[in-house]
Amino acid sequence: MVQATLSSDLIARFAAITGPAHALTVEKDIAPYLVESRGLYHGTAPLVLRPGSVKEVSDILALATETRTAIVPQGGNTGHVGGSVPREGAADVVLSLSRLNRIRDVDPVGNVIVADGGCVLADIQAAAEKVGRLFPLSLGSEGSCQIGGNLSTNAGGTAVLAYGNMRQLCLGLEVVLPTGEIWNGLRRLKKDNTGYDLRDLFIGAEGTLGVITGAVLKLFPRPLGHEVAFAGLNSVEDALALFERASSRCGTALTGFELMPRLGVDFTTRHIPGVRDPLASRHDWYVLIDISTSDAADTAARMMEALLAEGIEAGLVENAVVAASDAQRKALWHMRESMSPAQKPEGGSIKHDVSVPVSAIPAFMAEADAAVMAAMPGARICSFGHMGDGNIHYNISQPVGADKQAFLDRWREINHLVHGIVLKYHGSISAEHGIGQLKRDELASVREPIEMDLMVRVKRSFDPAGIMNPGKVISV
Ligand code: FAD
Repeated sequence: MVQATLSSDLIARFAAITGPAHALTVEKDIAPYLVESRGLYHGTAPLVLRPGSVKEVSDILALATETRTAIVPQGGNTGHVGGSVPREGAADVVLSLSRLNRIRDVDPVGNVIVADGGCVLADIQAAAEKVGRLFPLSLGSEGSCQIGGNLSTNAGGTAVLAYGNMRQLCLGLEVVLPTGEIWNGLRRLKKDNTGYDLRDLFIGAEGTLGVITGAVLKLFPRPLGHEVAFAGLNSVEDALALFERASSRCGTALTGFELMPRLGVDFTTRHIPGVRDPLASRHDWYVLIDISTSDAADTAARMMEALLAEGIEAGLVENAVVAASDAQRKALWHMRESMSPAQKPEGGSIKHDVSVPVSAIPAFMAEADAAVMAAMPGARICSFGHMGDGNIHYNISQPVGADKQAFLDRWREINHLVHGIVLKYHGSISAEHGIGQLKRDELASVREPIEMDLMVRVKRSFDPAGIMNPGKVISV
C-alpha cells in the first residue's frame, strides 16, 4: 500500500507547538503507537505528537483543521476495536495524551476528583484511596488505560453492577474541539438541567468529536466489608437463578457477578503463571461473586454466607470457596481477568463483546453455541463476562490443530452469525468496547436510519473538516 505522508513544512509547524522532543518522526519511536493492543490493527503515521498542555492540544487541533490533517487521539492504547491507532496507508497524526497526566484536585467532601485526560486509571484509583475514597472503575487494563480513553469508550468493567459505567461516573468534562476552541465543562454538579447535555455526547464518541483533556469524576466511600467467592455450578441457568437471589439479598452491595466456563478456568490454570483452580472439584460453570458494604465490616461476610447457603440448599451451587484474605480476593479476580489473555496461547480467538437482557443470557448462549458449533465443528467456545449487567465476552478459540489464519479469516462471518442472535434477543453488538474500525461497517445494521442520520449530523456539526479520528465509528 502507498503510504501517504505530510510535507516537512507541516511536520515542522506541528513540532513547533510541542517542541521537537515531543514530535516523533523516527520509525522505531513511532512503532508502539501504531499497533492496537490485540494486534488486530496496524496503522501508519508520519508523526506522533505528545502535547504537554491543554493549550498545545488546542494549537494542534486548530492547525489540523486549517490544514485538513487527520488526528487520532490515543490514550493507553488498550482499546479492543482499532479506534486508537491510525489508519493503514493514511497520513494520520497520532495525538498521545500521556503527558497530560496531572491530578488537578481531590475533594473528599464533594466526593470528586478532577484530573487531566491522560491520567492513568490506576493513578486515579490510588489518589482516591489516599483520601479514603473509592473510584470504582476497574478494568484488567487499569495499569495503562487513561481516563480520556475510558471516557471516550464509556468503559464498563467489573463494578458496573453497583456503580455504573464511565458515563455514570463522570460529572464534567473539558474538551478541545477540532477547531481548537476549548470547552470548559468541568462542573461538579449532580443536578444541572441547563440545556442539552454536551458531556454525554463526548463520552463514548471514541475521539471522533474532540479531545478530552480533563474530567470531573465521582468518588465513593471505601467499602468496609469486602467478600469474594468462587462457586462451581452445573449450568448457565443455575448461574442466572443464583444471580437473582444475589441481587434480591444484597441489593447494591452486590458489586460483581462474573460468569466463567470450565474451559476458561482450564486455560487460565494452564497458561497464566500463579493461577490455580481454588476448588478441588470440577464444574461446567463458575461464578465469581463480589459483595462490598460500607457499614459494618461483617455485613458483607454474613450476606455472602447466607447467599451461598441458600444457593447450595436450592441445588444451584455445587461447591464454593470464600476468599479469606485480600491476597485471596485478588487471586480470584486475577483468574477472572486472565480469561482473555489465557486464550492467546491456545491459537486464534474470535471475540464478541455483546450484551443481552440479563434474563435472556442462557437462551442467547444456548442458541449461539449451537449455531457456532454447526458452522465450525471443533470450535472451543470460551464465553465469560459480566453476567450481572448482561455483558458476555462471547469468545471462540480455534479447534485444536486448526490453521490459525484460516480460522481468523472467518472472523466477520462468525461475528455476523453471533450478532444476529444478539439482535434477536434485543441486545447490543458492542457492550463496552465501542465501535472503532472493527464494527464500523456493522453500525448501520443495528441502529435505525434516523439514529445514523442524527449521528452524522452531530459529527458534521462538531467536526466539519472531518479531522477527528476519521474511519472510526461512522463514515461521513
Ligand atoms: P485508547 O485505547 O488509547 O483509545 C480508545 C478510544 O478512545 C480511541 O478511539 C481513541 O481515539 C479515543 N481516545 C483515547 N483518549 C482520548 C481522549 N483523551 N480524548 C478523546 N478520545 C480519546 N474495557 C472495558 O470497558 N471493560 C473491561 O473490563 C476491559 N478490560 C480490558 C482488559 C484488558 C487486559 C485490556 C487490554 C483492555 C480491556 N478493556 C476493557 C478495553 C480498554 O482497556 C478500554 O476500552 C479503555 O477504556 C481504553 O482506554 P485507553 O486509554 O487505552 O484508550
